[in-house]
Amino acid sequence: MTGSVLALQLVSPEEYQRFLGRGLAVAEQRVPNSYHCRTADCPGWCVYEDAVNEFRCPLCAKLNCLLCKAIHEGQNCRQYQDNLRLQAHDDVAARQTNDMLQMLVQCGEAMHCPACRIVVQKKDGCDWIRCTVCHTEICWVTKGPRWGPGGPGDTSGGCRCNVNGQRCHPHCQNCH
Ligand SMILES: [Zn+2]
Ligand SMILES: [Zn+2]
Ligand SMILES: [Zn+2]
Ligand SMILES: [Zn+2]
Ligand SMILES: [Zn+2]
Repeated sequence: MTGSVLALQLVSPEEYQRFLGRGLAVAEQRVPNSYHCRTADCPGWCVYEDAVNEFRCPLCAKLNCLLCKAIHEGQNCRQYQDNLRLQAHDDVAARQTNDMLQMLVQCGEAMHCPACRIVVQKKDGCDWIRCTVCHTEICWVTKGPRWGPGGPGDTSGGCRCNVNGQRCHPHCQNCH
């Protein structure tokens, strides 16, 4: 496989160095719920709603994935992440991007979907995300499924937020 498929969404060497320089303190000054387009040098950005997983940049017209924080048009999140792992063997940029995902998981800025195991990244100000691949609703603070096996509304499992007026976690801000 050539590098062309992945060329767009890889972190630049500068971005990677900045990331390493910050160590695990990945938080930076930014508008709550905002996302910057991943195209190199593109100034496009948006403020997103909780339920949105994609952002079509109005400036460069690329489709950004908010859960991978990358541009992987034509691939779903699983294909993108599988390709990253495959390419990591002989492609330095793919390896760095893959390493960065693993570091984000370790420091709690990303997690594996409890159902299909793809890596999903935290969206600012949002304790609820829906996996793009298996559509499982995920509760961020408890790092587990939002609902029981019956799906939305099933409080026999999941984080059981708001059952008997109880939040699922002391740090819960916003479980849907
Ligand atoms: Zn853009
Ligand atoms: Zn994605
Ligand atoms: Zn999933
Ligand atoms: Zn919850
Ligand atoms: Zn909650």
